[in-house]
Amino acid sequence: MAKVSAYQVAVIGGGVIGTACARAAALRQLHTVILEPGPDPAAASPASAGMLAAQIEPSDDLMLGLCVRGRDVYEHLAATLKDTTGIDIAFWRGGIAAAAFDEPQADGLREAAALQRQAGLRCDWLSGDEVRERWPGAAPDATGALLASEDGAVDPQALTRALLADARRLGASLLPRQADRIIITGDRVTGIVVGGETVAVEQVVLAAGAWSPLLEGLPRPLAVTPVRGQMAATPWPGETPPAILYYDHGYVLTRGAEAVLGSTMEHAGFDCRVTNEGLAQIFRCAVRLLPAVARLPVLRTWAGLRPVTPDGRPIVGPDPDVRGLFYATGHGRNGVLLAALTGDTIGDLLSKGSTDLDLTPFRPNR
Ligand SMILES: Cc1cc2nc3c(=O)[nH]c(=O)nc-3n(C[C@H](O)[C@H](O)[C@H](O)COP(=O)(O)OP(=O)(O)OC[C@H]3O[C@@H](n4cnc5c(N)ncnc54)[C@H](O)[C@@H]3O)c2cc1C
Repeated sequence: MAKVSAYQVAVIGGGVIGTACARAAALRQLHTVILEPGPDPAAASPASAGMLAAQIEPSDDLMLGLCVRGRDVYEHLAATLKDTTGIDIAFWRGGIAAAAFDEPQADGLREAAALQRQAGLRCDWLSGDEVRERWPGAAPDATGALLASEDGAVDPQALTRALLADARRLGASLLPRQADRIIITGDRVTGIVVGGETVAVEQVVLAAGAWSPLLEGLPRPLAVTPVRGQMAATPWPGETPPAILYYDHGYVLTRGAEAVLGSTMEHAGFDCRVTNEGLAQIFRCAVRLLPAVARLPVLRTWAGLRPVTPDGRPIVGPDPDVRGLFYATGHGRNGVLLAALTGDTIGDLLSKGSTDLDLTPFRPNR
């Protein structure tokens, strides 16, 4: 166990966001500690589908720009992490197809594809026949699909492991304890309380996912709530090539030999149990996208809690009143996609006090 001593940076939370921030801080030669007692069984990162759905998920142009930028970091990061840690994060950039099952849906997606092309992004429209030709056995009654061919996925557990391993290789310590309270003296952070002991720190990054607002001593309430996502896995049907197929908020994706099926969006507090109703919803959508899953065995089910903000944007950046306190939380459905970019942004703020990303839309007091 790491010794409780003084650090330049303490990162609270060791999910994909916290480990990305800690790695970025350590890369910039800051003496860094990560506080993570778990992960909590309800944590989002291990539960995630790991999609880099930059052109599928965003609800507005601002998030589209952010998500595309976040996605594009992975090409280089995947190779770097393989080199430095030996961990393969299973970066896959084979595209994500969002299917339409009637004409109004098709019209909406065709229009979205055209707008993305106008914005300079690669985005195609596939007819229903083209969908079935490309992925035999998939979406038999689809009228077409938007194909974002530069979107893809990573393995979120491997990514978190690799980010942590790299942070430690670069000198960061892991303290497997919970941060109980943040200490603010005057207008700046001076420490955190961990198991009754005070750890002196110059800068704190709050990256505790859905638990972020619960940290004692914060200077403001944080509008982050847990939103449960349930998941299931079956074998991937042999007749269909690897794919990520999406419909509404549901999806099926290939991970190794398995099909990962998701997901629900439920306000259930900190309850991360899997329910029959949740599974029924997932399978209704999955069977539409990949009918073969109906006759395949269910291998596993699980759930995790997304840290969600009211406007769907993350909270990233400095506290407006307290020096040395930074937020990296509230990433909702896109925390894996945005982890590397969030890490770089926080790393720049910690080391030089500025970043090239306009953080106005992501400030905690918006
Ligand atoms: C079912 C599901 C599917 C998803 N699919 C995708 C996807 O396809 N693509 C995508 O980009 N995103 C996806 N997401 C969202 C993504 O997983 C999250 O946005 C992201 O994992 C959030 O990471 P985090 O590190 O902020 O939170 P978490 O992973 O929840 O980590 C927070 C950590 O903080 C620790 N902690 C809490 N309190 C304290 C404390 N006081 N002191 C120290 N540590 C503490 C917890 O133990 C936990 O490990 C999905 C999420 C779910 C649940």
